[in-house]
Parts: sequence; structure tokens; C-alpha cells
Amino acid sequence: MSDAVSSALFRRAQELLPGGVNSPVRAFRAVGGDPIFIKEASGAYLTGADGRKYVDFIGSWGPMILGHAHPAVVKAVQDAAIRGLSYGAPTELEVTFAEAIRAIYPGIEKLRCTSSGTEATMSAIRAARGFTKRSAIVKFEGCYHGHADCLLVKAGSGLATFGVGAPDSAGVPEGAAKDTIVLAFNDTAGLTELFAKRGHEIAAVIVEPVVGNMGCVAPEPGYLQAIIDLCKASGAVSIFDEVMTGCRLAKGGAQQLYGLQADMTCLGKIVGGGMPLAVYGGKREIMDVVAPMGSVYQAGTLSGNPIAVSAGLATLELLLPALYAKIEASSARLEKGLNEAIAAAKLEGQATVQRVGSMITLFFAPGPIKSWNDANRADRKRFGTFHGSMLESGIYWPPAQFEAAFVSGAHEDADIDAAIAAAAKALAA
Ligand code: PMP
Repeated sequence: MSDAVSSALFRRAQELLPGGVNSPVRAFRAVGGDPIFIKEASGAYLTGADGRKYVDFIGSWGPMILGHAHPAVVKAVQDAAIRGLSYGAPTELEVTFAEAIRAIYPGIEKLRCTSSGTEATMSAIRAARGFTKRSAIVKFEGCYHGHADCLLVKAGSGLATFGVGAPDSAGVPEGAAKDTIVLAFNDTAGLTELFAKRGHEIAAVIVEPVVGNMGCVAPEPGYLQAIIDLCKASGAVSIFDEVMTGCRLAKGGAQQLYGLQADMTCLGKIVGGGMPLAVYGGKREIMDVVAPMGSVYQAGTLSGNPIAVSAGLATLELLLPALYAKIEASSARLEKGLNEAIAAAKLEGQATVQRVGSMITLFFAPGPIKSWNDANRADRKRFGTFHGSMLESGIYWPPAQFEAAFVSGAHEDADIDAAIAAAAKALAA
């Protein structure tokens, strides 16, 4: 499946990097074969180490909504780099960026920039605990919120793919996860019951409002509102982790799409335009517990880095209604084509396409998939074969069953149709 150049690089990499990679899912363990090493990317395409071109449906796992190397974003990065790479001191850019975020997410009255989504969620939890003076947090099975100790419990994404226990990761002391309560996603009754019993202990509920990390799973009507309402009634903080959905499902993310407002929001990926930048923010009174205003400590040498913020601002400026309309049309075309391919291969009841906006997953499982229990029925082996066949056809699809694929503004109908034709071939086989 892989090319000789990538395989040679992978052997070199494995001598030095655990599994040959700097983030686990990249290693292709879940699907078999060696990963493709990437030389460059432009628009909807990646070029592998041997020069072969692929249509990319990963988009760096979410950030590249404009496609790769968008000229305006690249120019913003170049212009910023000439003025210095990092100052470790405040800049006007950060203020402009914060104003832009607040205009898009009215629930974010104050915010702080971090360098990764992991830092954003970890810090949001710390702020919520500091604000409420409570310890317990609630998360949902199959939702991934980065790799902070307290969040590595039934955490979807790479952890689901590699099937490790609870806490999901070795090296996480039981104590670090003992205040993490895990419930099934979309189980309003279970959450209501939990709050009735232990509401006074709960500092925060953190959720991916549309889950991407067990594959694409939508919230049932009323579920997200119930999270917000239950938190409000008991003095807990609702945290929407929109690292993946933010600026993707709509400019204002899932909260705009569903007309909701959480107490706190985490953003990443798209807001950094492909650079290391993420955000946590929310109600003023909650964010004012963060140092130096308050007693919750959180810091970062490269936080609000001028190049990352410049890439983010350039990206935000291009998130226009026409972009979302184009991406919705492309995503709907892909969904329809995949469903037709499933029908043509007589795989109805064995394969299910789920999509919200430009997040899409082909599960090798019967649908509808509403929770991790449903997703976990998926046939990983079949997915691996599917993935290998897609790659052979030049389609770079996420290398794990429990990841969403992403459509960008750079995908044209011909790119979508190439993916559909490749999927039809893979499914028929
Ligand atoms: N939250 C969500 C919903 C994510 O999808 C991710 C990453 N895939 C993270 C948090 C962690 O972000 P990062 O990888 O930048 O640390």
C-alpha cells in the first residue's frame, strides 16, 4: 500500500520516534501497512515522499478548512515571520484575535490562547474546578479531549483504536482519573440521574457537541441543551469542546448550528489555520479565576505566538458564508455517493454513513450510531481493507475507523467523485 520511499523513511523514523511518529494514529497501526510520508500539500492534495498525489480527506485532522497552503494564510505567516518568531510579550495581534473570536462565539466573553487543544481542555477543566471549588468532572464515552491525565478515560480516537483499559493509558495514576465520571453520549436520562445524586460535587461537564473522535456521531435533539441546563441548575460549568467542530460546522461551530451557548468553549485546529494555536474561554466570571487575575495557574512560553495568531486571523477572515455553502454541497455529494456505493455493494445494514456538515464517517457497522456502544460494533478489519483500497486509488482517508473525515473548501466535485468511485471499488471488493 505504501511506497518504497515512505517505507524507508518509516524504518529510519522507528529507530528514533516511538512507533516512528509524533502522534499515534499517524502510524497506520489500525489499518496495517506503513504510513505515507508527506512531502508537501496544496489545496485538496497531499504529495507523498515518492511524489504520488493523494486527495486529502484528513486536512491535518481538521485545521485545513481552506485547503492546504492557502495563499492568504501563507502570506500572513511570511509577513509575521519577518517581524520575529516569538516575543513572549503581549501583542496587538492577540487582542485583535481575541476580539475576532468573541465576535464569532458570543459565549466567549474572555479567553486565553494556548498552543494545543490538549492544553485548552486541560486548562478549561482547571478553571472550572477553581471557579466551582469542586473536583468531579463528567465526560462521555468515546469523546476525546486531548491527553491530559484526567481526560484519558474512555476517550475515543487513538485510544479507542488501540483498545487500552481504564484509565485508558498506562502512566495515568488512578488518583488522576478518580474524579472523572464517564457516561454514555446521548444518554440524557443517565446524566439527569447523576446530577440528581451528585450534582453538588460536579465542577464541569465536558462534551464534544458533535463527536468526531468515535467517528461522526450527532447529538440527539435536546441532549446538548440538557447538559447546559443541568449544569446551570447545579452550579456546574458546561464546557463545549469545539476543538474539532469550532469554525467547521458553522463559523460559530456547533453552538451556532444548534443555537446554544455553553459556559465555556474550547477551540483549536481551524482557529490556528494549521499552526499550533488553541483557545479556551467563556463567561467573564469564570475566566477571571485564571492567573494573574485569579488563583488558577496556567501559562505558556509560546501561547499567543505571533505567527500562529497571524495564521489564525487570516483563516478567520476567509470563513465566509459562500465557503460553508460550498463545503456543505461537497459534503452532501460525498454522503450521497457513499450511500449509493453501499447500496450497490449490497452492504446496507453492514455499513453506515454518518455526517454532520463537513464531518463524515463510514462505519462498518449497522446504524444509527448514537454512542460508543454502537460505534464499537464496527468491523475494524473491514475498515482496514477499505482504507488500503482507498489509498491505492489515491484517496487519503483517515487511517482508523473511529475518526471523522473532513471536507474542505478546496475539494471540487471531481475530488469528491474520485473518492466516491474509490469507495465504490473498495466496497464492491
Ligand atoms: N479536543 C478534541 C475534540 C479533539 O478532536 C482534539 C484533537 N483531535 C483535542 C481536543 C486535542 O487537541 P490537540 O491534539 O491539539 O492537543
